[in-house]
Amino acid sequence: MTARPGIVLTPRRAEARAVAGGAPGLETIVTGVGPERSRRSAINLAARCQGAPAMAVAGWLHPPPPSLQTGDVVVATEVVGPFGSVPFPSAPLVTGALDRAGLRVHEGPVTSADDGESAWLVEAAPDRPRVVVRVIADEHGTLGAYRALRRTARVLAAWAAAAGPRTVLLPEPRSFCAGVERAIEVVERALERYGAPVYVRRQIIHNRHVVADLESRGAVFVEEVDEAPEGARLVFSAHGVSPAVEAAAAQRGQAVIDATCPLVAKVHREVRRFADRGYGVVLVGHAHHDEVEGTIGEAADIRLVSTPDDAACVAVADPDRVAYVTQTTLALDDVADVVAVLRDRFPGLVGPAADDVCYATQNRQDAVRAIADDCDLLLVVGSQNSSNSQRLVEVAERAGCPAHLIDDAREIDLARLAGAATVGVTAGASAPAAIVDRVVATLGGLGPLDIHTRTVTAETVRFSLPEEVR
Ligand code: SF4
Repeated sequence: MTARPGIVLTPRRAEARAVAGGAPGLETIVTGVGPERSRRSAINLAARCQGAPAMAVAGWLHPPPPSLQTGDVVVATEVVGPFGSVPFPSAPLVTGALDRAGLRVHEGPVTSADDGESAWLVEAAPDRPRVVVRVIADEHGTLGAYRALRRTARVLAAWAAAAGPRTVLLPEPRSFCAGVERAIEVVERALERYGAPVYVRRQIIHNRHVVADLESRGAVFVEEVDEAPEGARLVFSAHGVSPAVEAAAAQRGQAVIDATCPLVAKVHREVRRFADRGYGVVLVGHAHHDEVEGTIGEAADIRLVSTPDDAACVAVADPDRVAYVTQTTLALDDVADVVAVLRDRFPGLVGPAADDVCYATQNRQDAVRAIADDCDLLLVVGSQNSSNSQRLVEVAERAGCPAHLIDDAREIDLARLAGAATVGVTAGASAPAAIVDRVVATLGGLGPLDIHTRTVTAETVRFSLPEEVR
């Protein structure tokens, strides 16, 4: 995006050597120790820093704040000093990269009482992307602290290379669907009405932030019903369960609240209907996914296929009586490819009256297609185990746009941002909109953003709540 290297201000010469050793491409400037030297340096260096794409303050920190050890890295979310609070919105990018580099990293505010230079030095470039990192050192600086600062410098180089103005495209719809909103509300209302603990079988939706939040409010997540006490209040997740799981919960006298998405429940009904009419059922889906496990349990003669190759060799009892259903969160193109092979093999193939791939999955994929051509990179907010988020990545890549699945801003790979002048940001149906907002704010810490929303459709779907929590 720019040929000029980032600037790193370091109070000490040894710190500058460590930074230059780790990332020779960075321009290092020694600014002197203490507030007064830092204040003068900031004034003297202002013009030089203004020409750089980004400016970092890096060095050692001594004495360390309690509980930190030599070699730990502190990334400032803000510095609080004589000029008030200066925030660093791109700090999560640096924190995440340092963490992946194997450093012990802590993120939080730094005050001028902890660090006698940064609050003054950041004033050298008030309108540039800035970040402050400090490595915990003992009184004299040690080899451990030196090495940690050297490794930190590599991350700062990647951060500076990613800095610059960019366009952000937000496809709409993105983030929560009606089934996910309903499932979360079920747990929230159960906690309100019945009090903690409320047990939930499996992740209520596939997002670790949502699960952690509900856990903090009294939800207890278990893998199987026998991990919840007899008689406990137990919520089934949005992905649905098999009849065997329902029976196990009934046997334990558990008070079940079923948060299965109505569109997943529809697929279960289809399987039962086809099985009752004597069809062998082929389920198009991904093995080990919670939804697939639940759907498979609905009939004895049901086969799982994931790819056209699977479909080409799936064995069925009666080739004249074959039906198919699909997981709700697949890519439409993948489903079409698999169903085409099935239809070729079984000309009498029957399927659902309307697509099983749900409206929310389709809409989010359509929205990604609408921006893919214009993006250098698509960030998809969602957890690794979120099927519909994974599919958004695939849809973008199939359209020729590199895509990156991230749980939050810390997971963004700086190398992928470098050179990406237009970045799309979307979210799977299980990812909170607030995380998308935080990702955009983090990108804003790398330079000015020109933000556009592109809407393909407005969603109005709402599902009613189970009667136990209405
Ligand atoms: S993605 Fe579709 S099937 Fe899954 S919870 Fe949302 S609306 Fe229901």
